[in-house]
Amino acid sequence: MSSPVTGRALHGAGASPGVAVGPVARMAARVPEPPSGGPAGPPGASRASGMRSEARAAIGALQEVADDLDARAEAAGGEAQEVLEAQAMMAGDPSLATRVEELAGQGRSAARAVWEAFAAYRERLAAAGGYLAARVADLDDVRDRTVALLLGVPVPGVPDPGHPFVLVAVDLAPADTATLRRDRVLAFVTEQGGPTSHTAILARAMGVPAVVGCAGSSGLTDGTRVVVDGGSGEVLVDPDEAAASEAAARAEAQAARRAAARSAQMPEAREAPGGLGATADGHRVDLLANLGGPRDASVALAAGAEGVGLLRTEFLYLDRAAPPSVDEQRGAYAAVFAAFPGGKVVVRTLDAGADKPLHFLGLPGEPNPALGERGLRALRRAPGVLADQLDAIGQAAAAARAEVWVMAPMVAVPEEAAWFREQARRLGGRVAKVGVMVEVPAAALAAPAVLAEVDFASIGTNDLAQYTFAADRQAGGLGGFQDPWQPVLLQLVGRVGEAGRAAGRPVGVCGEAAADPVLALVLVGLGVTSLSMAAIAIADVRLLLARHTLAECRSLAELALSSPDAASARSAIRAAAKDLGRLGL
Ligand code: PEP
Ligand code: MG
Repeated sequence: MSSPVTGRALHGAGASPGVAVGPVARMAARVPEPPSGGPAGPPGASRASGMRSEARAAIGALQEVADDLDARAEAAGGEAQEVLEAQAMMAGDPSLATRVEELAGQGRSAARAVWEAFAAYRERLAAAGGYLAARVADLDDVRDRTVALLLGVPVPGVPDPGHPFVLVAVDLAPADTATLRRDRVLAFVTEQGGPTSHTAILARAMGVPAVVGCAGSSGLTDGTRVVVDGGSGEVLVDPDEAAASEAAARAEAQAARRAAARSAQMPEAREAPGGLGATADGHRVDLLANLGGPRDASVALAAGAEGVGLLRTEFLYLDRAAPPSVDEQRGAYAAVFAAFPGGKVVVRTLDAGADKPLHFLGLPGEPNPALGERGLRALRRAPGVLADQLDAIGQAAAAARAEVWVMAPMVAVPEEAAWFREQARRLGGRVAKVGVMVEVPAAALAAPAVLAEVDFASIGTNDLAQYTFAADRQAGGLGGFQDPWQPVLLQLVGRVGEAGRAAGRPVGVCGEAAADPVLALVLVGLGVTSLSMAAIAIADVRLLLARHTLAECRSLAELALSSPDAASARSAIRAAAKDLGRLGL
């Protein structure tokens, strides 16, 4: 059967780089809402014993789901493991069990009791907004697994057509993406979700191309051939033979490069001539990885990362009632530092608030948390939390062979940069540099004054785009504003690059922009001295950079800045850059 969306291109946000071509397979349908009436109950059974058996069935199903998720967590490892463990904890939550028992005791069927008990949690999460609201899909998935078990219907999940496929879904729950067989799933396409959704994060961790927030993709039918470009965000439906074989060649070239990067295991390859990131004329650019926690270090090393440009430390704090101890933090930081002897590791202090609310910080309820007390502002309310974190970083750095840098998130004005530098004095000489992230237009515009206060800047293009265009980065429908090719965003990057050059201070980019090899040329031309990205993108960025001189990067940057919009900038630079076709980029 041919698809109603045949013969055209669909567009979403490129969430995980790479190209794939293959047939669509869609996720199984959602589990139906159980009817609100109570159970019929066996003839002759007392109402009380019927209710007890419904409660027992519901609790048993929750336990079975928790066990299954724990087993999947163990099998998955890495970042996926943490997500699945968090879901198993949701299923095993004692207060949820109590509520289920209460509802069954009021005469609900087991399935209905589970459904209603989850509904209360769901509402609270959705109302919290930001990061917590994004966990609603995880909660729904736990509910659906439990209800499916009780109703005896298939557990919603990944299809198995018996051949490799492009997985198309409304949105993906971590329980599904985590246990996907890499040799079966060619790419993800989801109708909902933004570039920071779980689908996107896990796809990047798995190295599977993904397009999220792809309007119209639900209309695709099983078996329809598509080309998925996880860089540009385009999904080509029913491509002609020429387009399909061109895409297949690009996919093959990428797979070969990644395999080569994997076999060139660090740290030997890092030291080898030509193994470091540099332009064709030898201008060095550090090519670093973004890490969500110590478990990502081995993937980054295998992908050829020269170090870590962004260690997101939130993994230590999320889902906790109190901050982690200095000892616990020190252990986690030390594990990352140990993986990069001689390499640079940039630790970002806690970036709380907005999409990552933490109750123990005592943040006020705010109508617009993304514009409220987040990042460094939140830490200024909790100086003890920052002091403990800096102490832990300092202790781990003192015992490490990595070169440790530390930076603060969400700095808007030079005074905040100066305040952070003062706090970081407690580190003594144990970290090499103290810097700030530039994620707010004000900080980019005041880059010379900001850089007068600290040793380096790292540009977070994800938030910088969000605040420049006043467009929520979590909103799939506004994904276009997250496009880092926008000339206005590049102008801000250029101002920071220029300020860094003038002050002799390093300026990195650690947002998703750095993962696009063609855009990376432009960033280097704008004066950026290091690029930090999802590890999977490093091999492509290194390869393309080595084919262009610094002067060429600068003229590509000029061309991008003078383009009227993101699409024209992208196509002008793609037309002007060298060897894209030959390299399959
Ligand atoms: C950014 O905003 O670009 C960034 C790297 O930080 P995060 O994505 O963690 O907010
Ligand atoms: Mg940010």
